Amino acid sequence: MNTPNTKPGKPCEESDSIALARLTDQIVECIHCGLCLESCPTYVELGREEDSPRGRIYFMRAVAEGKVEIDESVRRHLDVCLGCRACETACPSSVEYGYLLERARTHIEKTGQRPYLVRLGRRMLLEMFTHSGLLAPALFFATLPYRLLGKKPKAPGGIVSAIVGASGKGGDLYLGSYPRFRPVRIPERTPARDQKKMRVGVVEGCVMPVLFSEVNRATVRVLSALACEVVVPRAQGCCGALHVHNGHTEAAARMALRNIEAFEEAGCDVVAINSAGCGSTIKDYANLFPDGSPEKELAEKFAAKVKDISQIIPDLLRDHPMRSLDLTVTYHDACHLAHGQGIRDEPREMLGMIPGLTLVPLPESDHCCGSAGVYSFTEPDMATRLQMRKVRNIESTGADVVATGNPGCQMWIRSGLLSAGSKIQALHPIEIVDMALRDGG
Ligand code: SF4
Ligand code: SF4
Repeated sequence: MNTPNTKPGKPCEESDSIALARLTDQIVECIHCGLCLESCPTYVELGREEDSPRGRIYFMRAVAEGKVEIDESVRRHLDVCLGCRACETACPSSVEYGYLLERARTHIEKTGQRPYLVRLGRRMLLEMFTHSGLLAPALFFATLPYRLLGKKPKAPGGIVSAIVGASGKGGDLYLGSYPRFRPVRIPERTPARDQKKMRVGVVEGCVMPVLFSEVNRATVRVLSALACEVVVPRAQGCCGALHVHNGHTEAAARMALRNIEAFEEAGCDVVAINSAGCGSTIKDYANLFPDGSPEKELAEKFAAKVKDISQIIPDLLRDHPMRSLDLTVTYHDACHLAHGQGIRDEPREMLGMIPGLTLVPLPESDHCCGSAGVYSFTEPDMATRLQMRKVRNIESTGADVVATGNPGCQMWIRSGLLSAGSKIQALHPIEIVDMALRDGG
């Protein structure tokens, strides 16, 4: 491993919202066995220890102990990490790598390690993606020339990458349809179609109402058809996932409290999420608060009610009439479902219940597609390498559709398939269930 700047640095500040003790406890759990290396997409692509989980933990430990200063080289190795948490799945010592990465990134952001303009660009990108009222018009105007020329809609990923000071050159982001000027909201309350079984709160998300409103609408239709009353509290806001992943944990903690309050007031039996990234963050809200605090207790209680949509539907779907779908589908495991929440079987079970549908295995199904929140803009080179690897694997299955339970993956994989000229569609599994439940539709 190349030795980074070995000038003694400042130890991580203890004033971080989480005690430093837990951070170092986690770091020393790593026994340097290297069993995580082959599961790490960046290590597989680059073949360098510094770009592996073990190498990054080495840097974090040296920084936490004040032996090393974060310099450009250390920051690059941490930036290139996707936060996919595949290393957690592989680790025999149960090192919570995702938690370590979040704290390391918080430290980098707090200590102002990036040039001011880059920090500003990254913050703007974050705010854009977490406010659908900003994202919708921005995408609308960015894609206007294609709409006027009647061409496939694309967003200028390269310009965004330049604004955030990305090290590589980003390309265009192909979209499935022309974005609307305003986000498409789902109704605040939808009654159960049958005798009500439960009241389900739905997390609407920030990107979903702009780019995947059809996924939200399908979620509501399916829940209602399966005898659930659906409520979408208007007081909810961004879940904070992108803030957590990019080192803004204090802002994420404020967002967490707002959402907990909104859903508690709505009185839901269950809170359903159709975005893996949001689900993983919301289930981990407790990590944002100090041990023993009332907020942590609230967050733990709330997390017990939160379920990915694929954890709710199979039970409700059993014995429910569905129409046959003549489709061959393959399934991509979104990192924050498979590695972040341990959810692998449920979406496959849900799809497998649809008559006529053939589910075919996807090689490297849980290898990150490169989307990883805003990573495709901040690290476009690695993101594109992983995207093309995913596209090749999907094409090898001969499927008509690739299903995945995260909007970021759906957008990035769809863009990769469209740019490769593929006819394979990228859909959310709930959209496929919705097709099977719609009368003749
Ligand atoms: S989170 Fe993903 S990219 Fe980062 S070290 Fe772990 S496996 Fe590698
Ligand atoms: S598998 Fe776990 S213990 Fe082994 S090197 Fe990786 S993080 Fe450390």
